Amino acid sequence: MIAAPLVALVLAGIAAASPAVPPQPKAKNPQCNFWANVRDRFINEIFLGVCAQDVHSMVRISFHDAIGFSLHSEKGGGADGSMIKFQDVELKFPANEGVDFIVSFLQPFADDLGISYGDAIMFGTAVGMSLCPGAPRLPAFVGRPDATRAAPDKTVPEPQDDLTTIFARMADAGFTPTELVHLLASHSMASQAGVDPSPDLLGAPFDSTPFDFDSQVFLEVMLRANSFPAGGSGPNLGEDMSPLPGEFRLLSDRLFARDSRTSCAWQENALNQTAMASNFAAAFKKLSLLGQNQAKLLDCSELIGTPPPAKNKQAFFPAGTNHDLIEQACATQLFPTTLSTVAGRATPIPVVQLQDCPTCPTFKRRA
Ligand code: CA
Ligand code: CA
Repeated sequence: MIAAPLVALVLAGIAAASPAVPPQPKAKNPQCNFWANVRDRFINEIFLGVCAQDVHSMVRISFHDAIGFSLHSEKGGGADGSMIKFQDVELKFPANEGVDFIVSFLQPFADDLGISYGDAIMFGTAVGMSLCPGAPRLPAFVGRPDATRAAPDKTVPEPQDDLTTIFARMADAGFTPTELVHLLASHSMASQAGVDPSPDLLGAPFDSTPFDFDSQVFLEVMLRANSFPAGGSGPNLGEDMSPLPGEFRLLSDRLFARDSRTSCAWQENALNQTAMASNFAAAFKKLSLLGQNQAKLLDCSELIGTPPPAKNKQAFFPAGTNHDLIEQACATQLFPTTLSTVAGRATPIPVVQLQDCPTCPTFKRRA
């Protein structure tokens, strides 16, 4: 689990980096007025106005909470906030290592607002992603009832699982291998917690641009790798070597990029930032409605601001890499030779710092 003393160390840096948040849209549907206030409080009190670690943590908990669902058997109520309501059960599952940190913010925040935990997770994720360059505008439905039971263990795929097992679990929840790749665009803003327990590697990112929702993770996972990150204890279960200093690669990501069932969808995301973003939005909508009846929810997507544009229209080869390192797997399309290469030597990619929540102690907790 994440150590509390790390929190204080990073607070000043994050707060100082907060930019002015662009004006947010007003609610046309009066029923959404309340949620405009929820949105603004998320931006100011949880995300501190930036696309940083707390947005990543929201995207992560949205997947871990929602995937506790099955079309065929009892595996939980999907996108219902059970990860918070039944945290004493679900946070003990190994796959949920590190999720406790955002739960400790979200529970008192949701209680203070009087919103369900399922809505806090999914609405909050849509709000958070609106701060991230290159992200799509995500749909935002509200009105999920409180979770009624915990999800069982083993609903969240783990990076050491073989791909057939992972695809079967996702199919059980209603997702194709291609839709899984679309969800994995989240790894463009993600970092590791717990795969390598070394303190120096807490927050080691999966790509060279962890604050941008871009195609880099898909390109960089296709590169031939050469070492485990310095300061870590690799190889660890579920870890693979990476091609760039400081970068962390999940074993399952390497396999997705090279398996015939997913390699072409993976490469498409590497080559098309716009498609990657819209594919993610469609897959996220499906995720956010797992276990829910859309007809009973209120659509307040109009409240979600337009994210900043992507910094780069096309993925690039980071310094120290080039096209020769691409491990081609998609059989129907060669990886193009036209992408740009950053000159110079590779420089280590720093870990993503945790964010504190300065106002959290003032929130109320449910008895
Ligand atoms: Ca759940
Ligand atoms: Ca990125």
